[in-house]
Amino acid sequence: MSAPVVEPVSNVFETILVLDFGSQYSHLLTRRLREFNIYAEMLPCTQKISELNWKPKGVILSGGPYSVYAPDAPHVDKAVFDLGVPILGICYGMQELAWINGTEVSRGDKREYGEAQLSVVDHSSPLFKDVDHSKVWMSHGDKLYGLPDGFKIIATSENSPYCGISNEEKQIYGIQFHPEVTHSEKGKVLLKNFAVDICKATQNWSMKNFIDTEIQRIRTLVGPDAEVIGAVSGGVDSTVAAKLMTEAIGDRFHAILVDNGVLRKDEAKIVKETLTEGLGIQLTVIDAADEFLDKLAGVTDPEKKRKIIGNTFIHVFERCAAQIKPKNSDKEIEFLLQGTLYPDVIESISFKGPSQTIKTHHNVGGLLDNMKLKLIEPLRELFKDEVRELGEIMGIPHDLVWRHPFPGPGIAIRVLGEVTRSQVAIARAADHIYIEEIRKAGLYNQISQAFACLLPVKSVGVMGDQRTYEQVIALRAIETTDFMTADWFPFPHEFLKKVASRIVNEVEGVARVTYDITSKPPATVEWE
Ligand code: GLN
Repeated sequence: MSAPVVEPVSNVFETILVLDFGSQYSHLLTRRLREFNIYAEMLPCTQKISELNWKPKGVILSGGPYSVYAPDAPHVDKAVFDLGVPILGICYGMQELAWINGTEVSRGDKREYGEAQLSVVDHSSPLFKDVDHSKVWMSHGDKLYGLPDGFKIIATSENSPYCGISNEEKQIYGIQFHPEVTHSEKGKVLLKNFAVDICKATQNWSMKNFIDTEIQRIRTLVGPDAEVIGAVSGGVDSTVAAKLMTEAIGDRFHAILVDNGVLRKDEAKIVKETLTEGLGIQLTVIDAADEFLDKLAGVTDPEKKRKIIGNTFIHVFERCAAQIKPKNSDKEIEFLLQGTLYPDVIESISFKGPSQTIKTHHNVGGLLDNMKLKLIEPLRELFKDEVRELGEIMGIPHDLVWRHPFPGPGIAIRVLGEVTRSQVAIARAADHIYIEEIRKAGLYNQISQAFACLLPVKSVGVMGDQRTYEQVIALRAIETTDFMTADWFPFPHEFLKKVASRIVNEVEGVARVTYDITSKPPATVEWE
């Protein structure tokens, strides 16, 4: 029997293909299109069209750092023009359209970076419906020195006579500016004009529709009797993935929570309750705290700590997985579930230069090699906010859906220096008070991530007329949209006062509390 064919998501939803020439904004194109319910997928610009196993409704060629005329510049597979679907070139993408049509592109007399005023010349062009006289954002040094055959000018700006060009017969469009960045006022309208009016893509991408298709896809992929295992952490991604799996194959999915001894207060208990009783997910909790903490004894180097935790995790997980008895006892577990999200996928396919090999995505290091499991990643097409929406629709508790991220190595990297049971207990208790107060003050959802760190220094204090000599807790809270850059959260003084007082009073071993007011960069979010 041949394997059942699993439809790619891009075949189920009408999809716009974004070919990435390496611009730092390329992923925003996918983002924007999905915001108005059009599914879009990004692939490297070197993608061979004949190797696509789906047909796009339209293609966008992104911007990029190269110059089309440079000897090592990346070029699009010309077969894209035989697809017979509309094409939009953005910045480098437009220059590429011109260049391969024999038009001169070279260095302009001045670079154009920043805002410009768009003037639409051809008001009948469907691309510019409702976008005339808006501000657009430019970032280029090269320009067109002519029009490719069959093209006309549809928009200009002060510095760019070829700010917008089109070949309406072939449905090919080019623009010099970047509609995907928010500085381009009507950028989203323009992208919608392209995708909806010109490509005629159906606006049906929604998490509600996604659930049904994804459950079907999982069932086809896994088949009627294979079994799947996956680790859960109490975070939104792994919980949503586990719930989706359970909806698709019921108790042929086995979730495993490894208690590594450096989880938050009562975490294993709470996850067990929420997932088992609340969500009906079949879960095994394995208490491996001693194994992790024994291995961490005497280790102070942050990288070593991370490595020990990662390796021990694989060990424990594999041991636990081996004990799980598949329902069909003659079968072995065949698949490993992973909550990989789209940004990780983008990161791994992102086009970094024609000579460089494209980075392959890293999964939980080593697990697959040792276990001979096939990987299943139901969230690999989704952005974080889409996963959250999915979680809400599937009835995952609101607080879990909006939980701050928590690192895999847990409290071990929030206890600076050596990780001992007593140090973990102090950090955990302080963190619990801090988060509890943040929730009480109604600030949790304004903060992207907050936690307490235990510093390996002692400081003098006075309590009940007695000299104390105890450790220091540092509090961290940041605001960020992408975790690439972050700023510290401006708590009211009263709030900090209350938290500091509670921690020193309630947590034995702490004499002093400080608040971390460093942004990222130069600091990172976590201390280790
Ligand atoms: N590198 C090209 C230029 O400077 C394209 C830039 C871009 O796509 N943003 O014109």
